[in-house]
Amino acid sequence: MAEKKSEAQLLREKLLREKKNSFVKNPKLFGKSKEYCDAYIDFLNLAKTEREFVSETVKLLKEDGFAEFDPAKAFSKDDRIFYNNRGKSLIAAVLGEKPLTDGVRIIAAHIDSPRLDLKPMPLYEQNDLGYFKTHYYGGIKKYQWAAIPLAMHGVVVKKSGETIDICIGEREGEPVFCVTDLLPHLSRKAQDTRTAREVIKGEELNILIGSRPIDDENVKEPVKLYLMKLLNERFGMVEEDFVSAEIEFVPAFKASYIGFDESLIGSYAQDDRIAAYAGLMAMLENKKPEQTTVLILADKEETGSDGNTGLASDMLKNFISLLSKRADVDPETVLLRSKCLSADVAAGFDPTFPEVNDPKNAAYLNFGISLERYTGAGGKGNTSEASAEYVAEIRAMLDGAKIPWQSNELGKIDEGGGGTVAKFIARLGVDVIDIGVPVLSMHAPFEITSRLDVYSLYKAFLVFFK
Ligand code: MN
Ligand code: MN
Repeated sequence: MAEKKSEAQLLREKLLREKKNSFVKNPKLFGKSKEYCDAYIDFLNLAKTEREFVSETVKLLKEDGFAEFDPAKAFSKDDRIFYNNRGKSLIAAVLGEKPLTDGVRIIAAHIDSPRLDLKPMPLYEQNDLGYFKTHYYGGIKKYQWAAIPLAMHGVVVKKSGETIDICIGEREGEPVFCVTDLLPHLSRKAQDTRTAREVIKGEELNILIGSRPIDDENVKEPVKLYLMKLLNERFGMVEEDFVSAEIEFVPAFKASYIGFDESLIGSYAQDDRIAAYAGLMAMLENKKPEQTTVLILADKEETGSDGNTGLASDMLKNFISLLSKRADVDPETVLLRSKCLSADVAAGFDPTFPEVNDPKNAAYLNFGISLERYTGAGGKGNTSEASAEYVAEIRAMLDGAKIPWQSNELGKIDEGGGGTVAKFIARLGVDVIDIGVPVLSMHAPFEITSRLDVYSLYKAFLVFFK
C-alpha cells in the first residue's frame, strides 16, 4: 500500500507546480507516439526545403479532397481549400460550423530552414578543383556546415520559363557534396585563434563539387567546363541559368531515432517541420471543425519573414480578406476574433551548457510542449507578448486534453535572443502565443527533439483545431 501523504505534501501538490517528465506523468504516451513519429521521420526525409514541403503538402491536400484556390479565378465555394503561394508557402483552410464572424483558428508554422544557398554566379575552379560559392541562409554556426555530406536541392528556371527540379544526394548511390575544413595539424595560426563565428567564414563556405578536367589541355578552366558540361547534359542548363535558380544545399543525412531507447529524434530542419507537419496532420484529421481552421506554412522565417512568401507580407491578411468577402463579412471583424498558435521550436535546455538558461524558465526535453509568451531580446523588444487571458485559455485547453506543457523563455535575459512569426500575426489584431517543442542543437545540421514532445504538439493541435 502507498504511504499516506502528509498534510504538507498534499498542500505542496495543490499549490506548487512541479515539473514532471512526460514519461512519468503519462507512461502510455511513448507507445502511442510511435506511429506518428515514424510518419514524421519519413516526411522529414521527403521534404527538406520549403518548395518540397509545399509540393508534398499539396499532394496530401489534393488526395484528401482540398480544392486549390486560384486568385485569378472566381473564389472556390469548397469548404476545404488551399492557396499555394509561389510554391514556397501555403495557406489551407477548412470552413467550420460556426460563422466566420466568430473568428478563425490559425496555426502558423514555417517551412524554411537554415542552409547554404548558391550565390547567383556560383561555379568556379581553383587549383584544379571545382566549387560552388554559397551564401548562407538563416542563423547558422558556419563551422557546423563544413566536413559533412551535403545534398543539392532546388530549381533552375530558364529564360523560357521552364522550371527544372533538382535533387541530388538523397538517394542511395548518388554522390554528395562537401565544404572542406582545415586539418588540425595546420590550423594553429590560420584558424585556431579565430572566434567561433569565424572558424569558417561566410566566404569559406565553398562546396567541393568535382575535380575532373575536360579532355583538352589547351582550354581555360577545364574542371569548371567539364562540370558545366555535366549539368548541361543532365538539366539542359548553361552557366547564366544559375542567376535565375534557387539552389539550396542541405545535410544529406537522414532523419532517425536517437539513443538506445529510441526516445529522441534527430534530423535536419526539425525547426520548424515539427510544427508544420503536426499542423498539417491536425488539419487533415478534422474535416468539420467548430470554428474555421487555417494552417499557414510560411517561408522566410529564418531571415526575418520579409518577402512575399513570408509572414511580414500581407499574405495572411489577403487570404482572410478573400475568405471573408466570400461569406459577405468584414475581414477586420474576423481577424479581431481570431486566435493563433504561432508554432515554432523552443531552445531546449542542454545540460552541457546550463549557463545560458534560467533553469526555472527553460524548456526541457520530454517535459511537454513549450508555451512561450514572448520571444525577442533586450527587455521584451521585437516580440509580441501573449495576454494573460489568452495564455489562460491555452493552458486550460491543454490541461483539459491532458497534454503535457511547460512554460519557458528563450534563454537567460540578455544572453541572446530570437523571434518567430508571432509578432506579424499579432499585428493583424489576432491573439497569438508561441507554442512548440524544445530542440537541442537548434539550427545545426542535425537537430534533436523528444518523441513525446513531438507527439504532444500534434495532440495539442488536434484540440486547437477541434
Ligand atoms: Mn523556427
Ligand atoms: Mn529557426
